[in-house]
Amino acid sequence: MKKYDAIIIGSGMGGRTVATDLARAGKQVLMVEKCAEMLGGVYLNEGGIPANALAFKAQYSAQRDGMFIEQTAGYRTAIQDKDILIASLRETCCDALGRTDNITVQIGTASLAGEHLVRIENEQGDVTVQGDKIFINTGAVPIIPDIQGIRESRYVYTSSTIFRLKELPKRMIVIGGGYLGLEFASIYSHFGSSVTIVEKQENFLPNEDEEIATAVKDSFLKRKIGLLLASTVIKIEDVRGCALLTIQTPAGEELLYADAVLIAAGRKPNVAELNLRSAGVELSRTGGIRVDEYLRTTAPDIWALGDVTGEEQFQAISLDDARIIRSQLLGDKKRTLNNRGQFPYCVSVSPAFARIGLTEKEARGRGFSVKIARMKSEESSQSRIIGVRWGLLKAVVDANTNQILGVHLFSAMAHETINLAKAVMDAGVPYTALRDGIFTHPSMTEAFNGLFEHLE
Ligand SMILES: Cc1cc2nc3c(=O)[nH]c(=O)nc-3n(C[C@H](O)[C@H](O)[C@H](O)COP(=O)(O)OP(=O)(O)OC[C@H]3O[C@@H](n4cnc5c(N)ncnc54)[C@H](O)[C@@H]3O)c2cc1C
Repeated sequence: MKKYDAIIIGSGMGGRTVATDLARAGKQVLMVEKCAEMLGGVYLNEGGIPANALAFKAQYSAQRDGMFIEQTAGYRTAIQDKDILIASLRETCCDALGRTDNITVQIGTASLAGEHLVRIENEQGDVTVQGDKIFINTGAVPIIPDIQGIRESRYVYTSSTIFRLKELPKRMIVIGGGYLGLEFASIYSHFGSSVTIVEKQENFLPNEDEEIATAVKDSFLKRKIGLLLASTVIKIEDVRGCALLTIQTPAGEELLYADAVLIAAGRKPNVAELNLRSAGVELSRTGGIRVDEYLRTTAPDIWALGDVTGEEQFQAISLDDARIIRSQLLGDKKRTLNNRGQFPYCVSVSPAFARIGLTEKEARGRGFSVKIARMKSEESSQSRIIGVRWGLLKAVVDANTNQILGVHLFSAMAHETINLAKAVMDAGVPYTALRDGIFTHPSMTEAFNGLFEHLE
């Protein structure tokens, strides 16, 4: 039986990083990835990279007043460009792994076969290998809601399959108004599809700051994206050339036709094939692999990182998980989940919205005495220059200490500027660092000067 110092299951961000760190430290590493087309993980192949590449192209498409037939051609080109981009990024990723001494990459589906044993199945058969340490990085998979006809319909897609749709659907229904649902709705609406979102919750983006959620909602309605809140799809049936959806809304049953139905009802940790019990690896209440603050599972010498732990599903979190493992196995052992701190995230609607820290309601709920700053995006000259005037910037500040508690941006370049808020919050300096800082002009960063002038 072949023996390795470390076996990594899954080639997502965290897995790749741990593999490289250990290999550079002289360990013999085996990385197992289910299929060659997924090398580099979900984010690269069917996640944030294709989504953001399409979102970028879609905005340009929206700026041209096209007939649907022209928009279809634009969409087709965007899909081709996205395929080329991903192929090249995947190649770069494979090259990087290939160039690193001590890493062997094997294609196959891995499962545990005991505490230090991993079984790998592929077209050639199956083989069991031994690893001193095992790292599980198998990500998450789409949740398929229990809807009559959902598995039979030819028009149903998930976030994993929608990017293979070569023709622009004239009518799209998105099931789920979470981050991914909103991103896809925004992308396809920009390309020219008529999009309706069906969301079972009554409130739009209930976990976000209320004013930002309202601004995002208004922008969707302004763009004529349909929003059915407090509504559920109860049946999908294929009729002549499209799908017919029966939707329970507060006003009664509604029938809608769609050329594509996208399921965006959340993603669950990908554990089904791992045979975790054979090694004593337990799941947590979220359905993810239970880990402690060092990312150790309940089995000795087995770690889990990234989406499979059932925690926040972001690429940057998977990378940070790898940093924790590096610190624990190769470093000063100081980095843990408990000292991760706050992190920003971004949702690529149009413009993007990005957030770090507490909402106003959360801050007040925790007993902070707060000051609030809010500013319309159009007050920033950069917003006007680039023609993205829609949006709102909001900040929540502790009135006693002047520390920033939360920043919420629904504005051009929000995915970039939020990182400056993160740096200031981490540095523990007061909000005045952003109000009085000298920043390039014109820029969206500079909008922080104006935002914090509005504090009251
Ligand atoms: C459409 C979409 C858009 C997104 N956009 C963003 C974004 O803008 N920003 C952001 O931060 N995050 C985004 N995410 C989330 C992000 O993709 C994930 O958080 C990130 O990919 C997590 O990486 P990971 O390390 O957990 O592993 P993953 O990237 O999920 O990789 C897991 C890998 O394991 C492989 N695998 C699974 N089972 C096995 C097995 N048994 N044996 C061998 N290999 C296996 C899979 O094939 C896969 O390659 C998006 C996700 C989606 C779906």
